[in-house]
Order: sequence, then structure tokens, then C-alpha cells
Amino acid sequence: MESRNLIILGSGPAALTAAIYAARAELSPLLISGRDVGGSVAVTDRVENYPGFPEGIGGFELAQLMQKQAERFGAEVVIDEVVAVALSSAPFEVKTDGEAYGAQAIIVATGRSPRKLGVPGEAEFAGRGVSTCATCDGFFYRDQRVVVVGGGDTAIKEAMFLTKFASEVVVVHRRYRLRAEKVVEGMARSNEKMRFVWDTVVTEILGEDGVTGVRLQNVQTGEESTLEAHGVFTFVGNVPNTELFKDQLELDEVGYIVTDERQRTSVEGVFAAGDVQERVACQIATAVGSGARAGMQAEEYIAELEGRAYPEREL
Ligand code: NAP
Repeated sequence: MESRNLIILGSGPAALTAAIYAARAELSPLLISGRDVGGSVAVTDRVENYPGFPEGIGGFELAQLMQKQAERFGAEVVIDEVVAVALSSAPFEVKTDGEAYGAQAIIVATGRSPRKLGVPGEAEFAGRGVSTCATCDGFFYRDQRVVVVGGGDTAIKEAMFLTKFASEVVVVHRRYRLRAEKVVEGMARSNEKMRFVWDTVVTEILGEDGVTGVRLQNVQTGEESTLEAHGVFTFVGNVPNTELFKDQLELDEVGYIVTDERQRTSVEGVFAAGDVQERVACQIATAVGSGARAGMQAEEYIAELEGRAYPEREL
């Protein structure tokens, strides 16, 4: 079994920032990326609120730049999916389908995945008209009507992206007010291809070979209706990717990893950063912050293990 100082699980901004800090501390971190490098940022069309890019930057490009920076300092990025971890005692074990690694310390930065809407037709038409990724699938809906479900930043930004292709983008939101940032809402409201259906939920996704429409219900009046559409994009929040850590790390009631102000988890030597432990403000900027902290704390932890004095920073 290959043994490492530090293994970082995930490859979004938190993981890549942790890798930059750990690599600069000469820990030669191994980052196991998951299916792709970059996490959810890499499938975001434009990022406009991350400091340093006054004109905005493509999400994929930003993720690539972060990866390049981590690799320049000596981080190794492996594109693979972790299938099991054993955290009961150090060295910890990390297994992918083909490899097993040992690690003195681990940083968990596995992020979150889109929450399911949980209505009939969603699973049946997944990949055949139902999607959670506009940048991946928007192209298929040229000159067609699509429905976007949700009222947060993701839903509204992805809906705007979809107007590049679709003839009409209908946002179905369960309330009368959006949760998205005001600046995002302003842009969406002035986009002529966007239409909003308020106080309404999707109760079923309809179709045969592919999606043909949605069944809707107004939550104020109870009135039901149907709307024709060829695609349905759901952006109704996210769930933390913590399945592998159940019964090994302390999770909160929703499933997020519990961390302290130094990104420490309930197991000594295991740190967590980014959306997998962030309930309040899941932003690239906050992920970068917690990733930096996790990288620095891992450095201190390993220095102490090796008997190199590393006095705790005073709070
Ligand atoms: P979110 O902010 O949690 O929004 C989820 C949306 O889905 C809400 O509008 C919610 O309605 C709706 N919803 C939840 N469950 C639903 C259900 N069962 N049926 C119908 N609608 C449902 O999630 P997000 O938009 O993915 O954003 C997550 C975080 O990432 C946020 O902190 C956001 O600011 C951040 N983000 C930022 C940017 C950016 O560029 N600044 C881009 C993307 C994401 P309610 O409003 O009624 O709760």
C-alpha cells in the first residue's frame, strides 16, 4: 500500500487550495479528485463574485488555474473515485477501485451533490430530458422550451445560461421571492427569454421517450396545470457528499461534517473543508478560506507527528 503524508479527497476550490498550501509546505499531497477535477465550479458557466477577476471568469478555467497552481508546487492529482475510507486509526486508509493508499493525515473536501426533487418522472427521465447541469446539457435544447426548478443562485444563473440555447426558459419557484442574489435576479428579470411561474411546484415530469412537459401545482390556490417543455433542469439545493464518512466522523443532523475553527473533525488527523462542512455560505471564496486553513492545520499536525516543534497558533 502506497503511503502518503497527506491525502486530499475532492478537487473543488477547497481541495485545490488545501493542496496549494500543503504542497508549499512540502507535504507532497496526493489529491484524489473524484470523477472530474474542479467540483461544481468546473461546470459553472461564469464566476463573477470571486475576487481578482473584475470581468468574471469561466468556472472551468478557474478550476484549471487552481489545479495548475497546486501542481506547480508539487501536488499530485489523481482522477479516481474513492470507494472506502478507514479512519479508526492512523495511518488512515483510502481505497479507490484499483488502488489502496495510507495517509498520516486526510483533508475531506468532497463537496455536495444536487438534491433530488423527488417527483414521479425525475429518475425515469434522468439524462433523457431531466438534468442538473446546464453547462453539460443546455446545448441539446436549442430553440426549445425548458423548465428550471428552484429560486437560488444556481437555478437563476443556470437558467440565464440556458437562454443562450432555449427559445424560452420558464423558472418554476415555490415562493414569490427568489433566494438568488439581487444582482443575479435583476439580470434574470430583464432577460426576455426568461419567464417566472411563482408559488408553484412541479409535481410530475411528463414524457414518453423523452420529456414532454411538467405537471404544476400552485401552492397558494392548489390549482393544477401542465406546461409543455423538452427539458427540465432541477436546482433545488444540495446534499453533502458524506456517505463514506458515516459512523466514522461526526456529522450534523443534515449530514454535514462537523468541524472546529481549525477545520478539525472528530478524528485527530482528519480535517474537512469546503461545502462538505459549510452550511452557511457555500461560496468559492469561503471554500478557498477553509481549504487554506485545512492545508495549514495539516502541516502543523504532521510536523508535530514528526517531532518537529510547531506551537499552536494562538487564537
Ligand atoms: P439554495 O440557495 O439552497 O437554493 C435552493 C432553491 O431551491 C431555493 O430557491 C429553494 O426554495 C428551492 N427548493 C428547495 N427544495 C425545493 C423543492 N423540494 N421544491 C422546489 N424548490 C425547492 O441552493 P443553490 O442555488 O444551489 O445555492 C447553494 C449555495 O451556493 C448558496 O449559498 C448560493 O449563494 C451559492 N451559489 C452562489 C453562486 C454565485 O455565483 N454567487 C452560484 C451558485 C451557487 P426556497 O427559496 O423557497 O427555499
